[in-house]
Amino acid sequence: MQLPNFSQSLTQLIACPSISSTQPSWDQGNLEVIQLLATWFEHLGFSIDIQKVPETRNKYNLFAKLGSGEGGLLLAGHSDTVPFDENNWQSDPLKVKEKDNKFFGLGTCDMKGFFAFILQACKGLNAKNLKKPLYILATADEETTMAGARFFAQSQAIKPDVAIIGEPTNLVPVVMHKGHMSHRISVQGQSGHSSKPSLGINAIEIMVKVIGELIVLKEKFNLNYQNKAFDVPAPTLNFGAISGGDNANRICGHCDLDIDLRSLPGMTDAELINWLSETLKPLAEQYPGRISFDELHPSSPSFEQTQPSTLIDIAEEISGHHCCAVNYATEAPFIQQLGCQTIVLGPGSIDQAHQPNEYLAHSEIEKTEQLLVKMIQHYCL
Ligand SMILES: [Zn+2]
Repeated sequence: MQLPNFSQSLTQLIACPSISSTQPSWDQGNLEVIQLLATWFEHLGFSIDIQKVPETRNKYNLFAKLGSGEGGLLLAGHSDTVPFDENNWQSDPLKVKEKDNKFFGLGTCDMKGFFAFILQACKGLNAKNLKKPLYILATADEETTMAGARFFAQSQAIKPDVAIIGEPTNLVPVVMHKGHMSHRISVQGQSGHSSKPSLGINAIEIMVKVIGELIVLKEKFNLNYQNKAFDVPAPTLNFGAISGGDNANRICGHCDLDIDLRSLPGMTDAELINWLSETLKPLAEQYPGRISFDELHPSSPSFEQTQPSTLIDIAEEISGHHCCAVNYATEAPFIQQLGCQTIVLGPGSIDQAHQPNEYLAHSEIEKTEQLLVKMIQHYCL
């Protein structure tokens, strides 16, 4: 077998659809892309483990290992993509198109392309020459539940010295990001004829009070927490969706409000939930049994690689960029649970991710391959 060059491997990866979505009509398995990666890395001498991820719709992680011993380097990323809006694409999202010195395609920068880079960087590696192991992890369902990374972290199969997650950061080492949780706050009222307000309990009127308290909570977040590494330095609370009632002449019997909370590094989920329940407590006491809140999706924790860190120093030196914080969430907090220094560092820009006409610029190729080769040399050879 002849291993593909960079653009061939990118083309093949993009051609294997692996969309993750909370909408079942969009959601796809990822076995095809996992098997493609397995074939390539097996050919390079890696041992291959394809792991079925529990509680998913037929999704798999790929775990590959070259060399033996303790520590070493883990290169990690997700094998899935978001859905696409075909009408806004100027080319077929699953067919890599080269134009204006760019590769266009779904997942080119976020982030199947990263595995095409890893493949090139690993050509010519010989297990016999490795002093420490090189690991590759391709996860499932990052774009929805992060089930693949959660599962891998729980298994605690390895403890590398360091891990690099190749999300598109323009090759800037990312050492911090916020966490994310979303909740539905429900108010159960009592419906009735609008002409007799005293016979019902209006859920919208109670929800107005809930929203008033949550606005006060937003101010408390600003006063109590600030991290200047972020361009939005405080935790945020967003009112995302609201629904309730059915008719103008009926007392509203039920109202739901969906919110998201983005925590700073150092804040736990429990701390945020405590803020939320303390905020709603006086109203919950005033309206017993009528106000509740539930998590909409599993939360993703905030992330921080604490400093000083030799990995940050080396990544800054090799990439030529100072480390930074970002607002989006990644699998980093789960990978970090393996007990390794962890950063997010990869080619392409997050601005192109989750967008029609997603692309990876040709100018990323040489820089990224060199960076990966240097990282492998530093940590494994
Ligand atoms: Zn991504």
